[in-house]
Parts: sequence; structure tokens; C-alpha cells
Amino acid sequence: VLILTACNPKTGDKLANSNEDELSRKVDSVLSLMTLKEKIGQMNQYNGFWDLTGPAPSDGEAAKKYEHLRNGLVGSMLNVRGVKEVKAVQKVAVEESRLGIPLVIGFDAIHGYKTISPIPLAEAASWDMAAIQRSAEVSAAETAASGINWTFAPMVDISRDPRWGRVMEGAGEDPYLGSMVGVARVKGFQGDDLSAVHTIAACAKHFAGYGFSEAGKDYNTVDVSESLLQNVIFPPFKMVKDAGVRTFMNSFNDLNGSPATGNAYLQRTVLKGEWEFDGMIVSDWGSIAEMIAHGYAEDGKHASEMAVNAGSDMDMESYLYIEHLEELVAEKKVDVKLIDDAVRRILRLKFELGLFDDPYKYCDEEREKEVIGSEEHREAVLDMAKKSIVLLKNENNLLPLKKSGQKIALIGPLAADNNSPLGSWRIAADDHTAVSVLDGMKKYEGNNLIHEKGAELVIGDPAFVMETKINTTDKSGFEAAKNAARGADVVVMVLGEHGFQSGEGRSRVNLDLPGVQQELLKEIYKINKNIVLVLMNGRPLTLNWEDEHIPAIVETWHLGTESGNAIAQVLYGDYNPSGKLPMTFPRSVGQVPVYYNYKNTGRPVIPAPNLVFWTHYIDEQNSPLYPFGHGLSYTTFEYDNLQLDENSFSSGGSITASVDVTNTGDLDGKEVVQFYIRDLVASTTRPVKELKGFELVELKKGEKKTIRFEIDEETIEFFTANRKWEAEAGNFKLFVGGSSVTTLETDFRYED
Ligand code: BGC
Repeated sequence: VLILTACNPKTGDKLANSNEDELSRKVDSVLSLMTLKEKIGQMNQYNGFWDLTGPAPSDGEAAKKYEHLRNGLVGSMLNVRGVKEVKAVQKVAVEESRLGIPLVIGFDAIHGYKTISPIPLAEAASWDMAAIQRSAEVSAAETAASGINWTFAPMVDISRDPRWGRVMEGAGEDPYLGSMVGVARVKGFQGDDLSAVHTIAACAKHFAGYGFSEAGKDYNTVDVSESLLQNVIFPPFKMVKDAGVRTFMNSFNDLNGSPATGNAYLQRTVLKGEWEFDGMIVSDWGSIAEMIAHGYAEDGKHASEMAVNAGSDMDMESYLYIEHLEELVAEKKVDVKLIDDAVRRILRLKFELGLFDDPYKYCDEEREKEVIGSEEHREAVLDMAKKSIVLLKNENNLLPLKKSGQKIALIGPLAADNNSPLGSWRIAADDHTAVSVLDGMKKYEGNNLIHEKGAELVIGDPAFVMETKINTTDKSGFEAAKNAARGADVVVMVLGEHGFQSGEGRSRVNLDLPGVQQELLKEIYKINKNIVLVLMNGRPLTLNWEDEHIPAIVETWHLGTESGNAIAQVLYGDYNPSGKLPMTFPRSVGQVPVYYNYKNTGRPVIPAPNLVFWTHYIDEQNSPLYPFGHGLSYTTFEYDNLQLDENSFSSGGSITASVDVTNTGDLDGKEVVQFYIRDLVASTTRPVKELKGFELVELKKGEKKTIRFEIDEETIEFFTANRKWEAEAGNFKLFVGGSSVTTLETDFRYED
């Protein structure tokens, strides 16, 4: 058995890890020892579904995979977790295969491993990049402590369609905010040193266009313009690439007629070409084989040929590269240089992770026990959870609740739920380790708290059942809930989606409160109007009736392990909410897609009373229910005195805007000051408003701060009619405010 070390195989010299040339030499030294079959093996990734710590499997799929592992024909495994399991498979790869090349172990640590953070959409609502980075650090530390060294996150797909269940995994609708969040998450996962035992490789996914699946239906066709691709879909990918993300994942969807997995424009021309990405691209689960169903590949062999030629370096669970690439090389349909290039990228990652120095470095049982679920991690996710909460509405100062002397009725199917707050994507579907709202509120003992569920949300196991089949219609709990509401000073109702009603494969055509929840809410409202509606959901919902009637509404998403503690602290005013929506909340599903950075039509405003010929619906308003960037605080902020140091700038120059923000309420608080621009006339039509900067500002009551924002060419660049990113001369508007419905504006000019 030859176990490779970080040595020059000819001289035996120990190689330094820092130098780029040295790294290439190390990679090449390994590559030079490999047979074609072994190289192809590195491009093969398997799911670990058999009992990895038990005896070697003797038949079926598992036996085949195991055999491949022993023969050095597997480069990576996913869904192997826990030090014991990882050690077991790594041992086979390293000690039984001819070259002993270690495996890289991948896992979907999407928002935490055991200590669960808020879902990514919720985290984006914090607009707090330091907190988001910290949350990813926690996730990385726990994931790494369980033997894993690669997470399939962040998902940086921009989406304008809340019907798509996977919006919970991203940062919402805006490319600028999405880029910032993506970078914070990559920094958190990868840290400064990828070879450290608490950092893991990140993966930007899904390249590209997945968030624009037609009608919000998961896996559906994506047909978008070049302008949308360049101006909206690409920017977060480009930003995380520049921030050093080590891997990309391609995507299930067809993009403009060519499935992303076999799309050479995306992977070779853009990512590995123009952007000079030197990391590796993994396919999505079985997406190479899916090109057959797309009607793009004749069979598995054809699919492999297209995927590898298009630049997909690793085959996740299609079992096709391992089967066909050797033959395709022999037939000269695939150039062996492309195989070498793919393998170099994969080996490079393994060197960067330090796996060649010590393949078991992530496998320390002591560390595993110490790190996973630590008190420090719970504190970090609690902090993130509080920051992710968005106060949508608060009339009559119903919130914060008084800490004593009140009778509070806590009602709703999610009120005592300690599973749903963990959201989609976690180790175990039946994990019940979240702090429920009931548990969180019980800690405030000065009040008389009564709890009634009112109704079930789902029947059966929503982790694997279709949503339409799982909503309950049972109203037998209504009476008890109504009795609880009678005579209560405040009713707190916790409604929304089960943790598995959003996520992959969970597209919805209705964006209302599923099941009998709205009916329950209406029944309670007839009895007691002092309702605080606490929402738990993985996507924007349509809440017209709720907004019209319910005085206080708090969006809490799926907040993870510390959910109930975070919610209780916000409800009782121990934490003043500062979250802002990263995605527009529509009034009706028929408005979707509805987003803040839309373009004007030629008929944006009503031309004359009673004229129908303008851009609108006859049965719904144009405006959304809650706009992008919206979120209230228990205090109030005023914006004033927007100024520019100069009214114009030219190539290479910049101007600075300043605005005064004052806390005019009675409490200390935080505000997200948002800067938007509009390019008034350009070579292609431009959005009415685009977020270009923001700052999270802490203001004591009565305090005023001047916030500055620099505008340069980068701020105004876009993909122009020349088909390149550039700044065009012309007039612009600058807007500022506490949401995308801004309150102040001014004009500036750019001369090139
Ligand atoms: C998802 C990916 C995920 C992969 C591995 C796929 O179904 O689309 O986002 O990383 O599975 O679990």
C-alpha cells in the first residue's frame, strides 16, 4: 500500500503548502502516478447509504460502491457523517487502494450541523454580515468536527418566486444583498486557512439559473435573457468566486435550451474561462443522468461525454463517469487533457484541505464530542436568530408584551412545535431539539400563560409526503382555543409552514397559511382582536386578510435550535427587532413574480381616471404587501439631509453621499440604511431601483448619525448593449431609506 504524503515523489523532499507552484507540483506529482481509470475514479462521488462501520457489503449496489472504493475509483463521498463513519470509509480509500488518495467528504450543512442556525433566507433578513459569517463558522466547526470537510453551501441562487420551495436556502431576490450574504457565508465556512480543522470547503450552487424555474416549480425549465443572467443571476456567483469559494455545483435545470450540467457556456466559457475559476465543479445529484430525461442526451454515455466536455468535474451519484469515461477517451470523444484538468482541480482541493498530510485530521472523536452542540455555538445561533426576525406590523404598540400582570393565550399548531423551527435540510427529519415558542415564553414567568394548539398543521410525515396530502382539515381543537382566547389580554398565535413545507421539492401554488390555520385565526379574531401573529415559514406568504385585521405580525421564519428563546426575547422587548425582508411579500399569488427591482413599462402610471390601458391588474394592486427591505423596530427612525459632495463624477472618480439618520423613538435600536440607484436612460432598459449599498447602524434613543455611501463606476456598471460590464455616461438617481420604498432622493451624473 502506497500512502501518499506531501513529498516530492522523486526527491522525497517535504513540500511547503503555501506556494502556488509548489501546490501545482504536488498535484502533478500525484497525477503522474495515476492510471486513467484512477483519474476517472477521482471524478466519481458516491452517497454513503450502507452501514459504513459494519462488515464490507457483499451484494447489490453497496458492494459495487465498496469495491470501487477499495480500488481507488471513488474521489468523494457524501452523506457520510460522524467521525466513526468517516474514518471507516477513509480507511478503505487510504489503506486499501493502490495509491491511497484520501476522500473528500461532502455534506449539505445548509444552516448548521447539529446546532441549527436560522434558514439562510432568515439569516439574510438580518442584513448583518458579521453575524452571518459567525453562523457559518459555527456550522463549519461542527461539520468539520464530525469528519466532514466540504459543505454544499451557500446556495446563491437569486429568486423572485416564493412558490419555489428552495427560496428558504438562499438570500432572496436581490443580487447585491445576495452577493454580500454569499461572501459572508463563504468566509465563515472556509476561514483564512482551509487546512485548519475547524474550516471546510464551501460550494456555490446551483450554477446557474435554478432560482428562475418556470412557475416556481422545482427542477423546471429556465429560459431567461442574457441580461437577466448577467445582471441578476451571475453577480452572487462571481462575488463568491472572487472571495475564493473552492467549489461550484452545477444545476438540474435546463438553461435556455441546454441543461446546466452539460452547459459549456456556463462552466467552460464563463466560470473556468472568463472568471478563471481554478476550483472544481461537482454535478448536482444525478444531474448528469437527468440529461437523458431532458431529451439532451441519448444515453448515459452521451450524457457523460457532454457533461465532462462542458466542464463538470465530478459526477455526484449518476454512476456514469466511472462507467463511460474510459471508453470515451479511447474513442477520442473526450480529450484526456480535460480529465487531467478535472482531476487536478479535485486533488488540489484535497491538498488545500490538508488531507494528504493527514487523511484523518477531521476524525477526532474527542473534538467531535467537545465541539458539536457546544454552549458557545448555541449562543451564536441564538444571536443570529434574534437578528433574523422581522417585525412586519405593530399597531397600537401591542408589542412588546408586558412582562407581568397579563393573561396571554398562546395558540396555534406551531406554538409548541420543537421540530419545525429546525426547517428543511438537517441531519434528521425527526429531530425535536428546537426550543419551541412555548418553552421560550414560559421563561417569562410574570404573566399567566395558557397554551392551546387549536389545530394540527399536518398529518403524516411531511419530510417525505406531498404537501397537498398532509394539511389537516380537523377543526376539533378550535373550541378549546377559543376558550383560551376569551378573556386573554393578548393572544399570541404561532402559524405558518411546517419545517418541511418549504425546501427542495416543496413548491406551492398557494402561498397562504396552509390547512385550517387562517380559519382558526379568523375564529379567534371574532373573540379577541388583540392578536400578535407570529409567523414561521420558509418563504414569503400572501397575508392580505391577516395584514388588514391583525394588529401585530412578526416574521420569524424557521429560526433553528434557539428559535423559541429568540422569539420570546423579541416579543417581550428584550431584543429590539431590526430585520428587513430579503424578499418581497406579494398580495396575491397572481402577482408573482413581484420584486422591487422591476423595470418600468411604457405605461407605468394611470393615464386618466377610468382608463384601463396601463400596466396593472383589474383585481389587484400593483404594489406588494410588504416590500423588499421592509422591517419595523420598537423605536422609529427618521432620514434627513441627503447630500452629495459633488453632483457628478467621471471615469476613475467617485462621489460621496451622506444622510442623517436619527432614532426618534424611546428605545435604543438598529436600522438598516439602504442605498439604491436608478440609471435613468441607458443602452438597455434598467430597473426602477437597485440596491447598491447598506449599513446596519446602531442608534441610541435620540441619537443621530451621518451615514456615508461612496458611488463610483462599479456602483453603476451593468451588462450593457455592448454585451459587457461597463459604466455608461448619463443621469442617475440616488435613493435612501429604511426599505426599498425609500424616503429621500437626489440626482447625480456620470461622464465617461
Ligand atoms: C440538491 C443539492 C444538494 C444535493 C446533495 C440535490 O438534490 O439539489 O442542492 O447539495 O442534492 O444532497
